Amino acid sequence: MNLRDHKIYRIQEIRELTESAFILRFDRHGLNFMAGQHILIGLEGSSELREYSVYSGEKDDFLEILVKEVETGMVSKQLKKLKVGDPVQVESAVGFFRINKEDIDKKLLFIASGTGIAPFHSFIKSYPGINHTLLHGIRYSHEAYESESYEDFRYISCVSKDQKGVFKGRVTDYLKQNRIEENTLVYLCGNSDMILECKDLLEEQGISNESIYTEVYF
Ligand SMILES: Cc1cc2nc3c(=O)[nH]c(=O)nc-3n(C[C@H](O)[C@H](O)[C@H](O)COP(=O)(O)OP(=O)(O)OC[C@H]3O[C@@H](n4cnc5c(N)ncnc54)[C@H](O)[C@@H]3O)c2cc1C
Repeated sequence: MNLRDHKIYRIQEIRELTESAFILRFDRHGLNFMAGQHILIGLEGSSELREYSVYSGEKDDFLEILVKEVETGMVSKQLKKLKVGDPVQVESAVGFFRINKEDIDKKLLFIASGTGIAPFHSFIKSYPGINHTLLHGIRYSHEAYESESYEDFRYISCVSKDQKGVFKGRVTDYLKQNRIEENTLVYLCGNSDMILECKDLLEEQGISNESIYTEVYF
């Protein structure tokens, strides 16, 4: 990995969301990104960097990421230990998981598992007024990260292990029970199993591959 393009950013704020999930806010330092893109981040001086979707909006004067500490992981555990004021290295934003300009007025369906909600938070903040529905697959209702920031009728938590979700079951169960309107563009982000299963179900509903955009986290 080329370390030349890395810049040092300092943590401005930390928001604990659950025992393992948290948001890190940094100074923006003029970093340019398009909603949906990700940055590479790691400890200062470390060669271990990982991708994190930008959570904040294109016009915010700060930069945020939403991280879940992975039990067996390395960098997410390091990020969890950081305190306000600590430095991290950040590499500029990249990625093709974006909404094309010509699609901005179309009907959009966002489907996330867990922290896969991050790029959708950025879409929604960056492009107010987009005609979207957000399905969020989580195990427990307390994992509905900052759900109060979404319009109630647009945010559907799909909760598999307690009864407090808007929908009881996984996002795949939701797709089995609900028809997706024709001409909807679908954006999928999160773990690969969820993405593959959703793609099959969408295909069965007649949604073409060209109308589906994916971002695989792991
Ligand atoms: C484009 C892109 C954007 C991403 N954006 C985000 C984001 O916004 N927020 C975020 O938390 N993560 C995001 N990830 C995942 C992130 O890059 C790391 O893989 C994750 O934080 C684990 O890193 P680690 O060093 O702790 O674990 P590692 O030591 O790299 O990996 C340990 C194991 O954990 C698995 N793993 C990775 N993520 C998870 C997970 N969430 N749950 C369970 N197992 C997992 C890996 O496949 C691996 O087997 C993104 C990944 C990609 C490719």
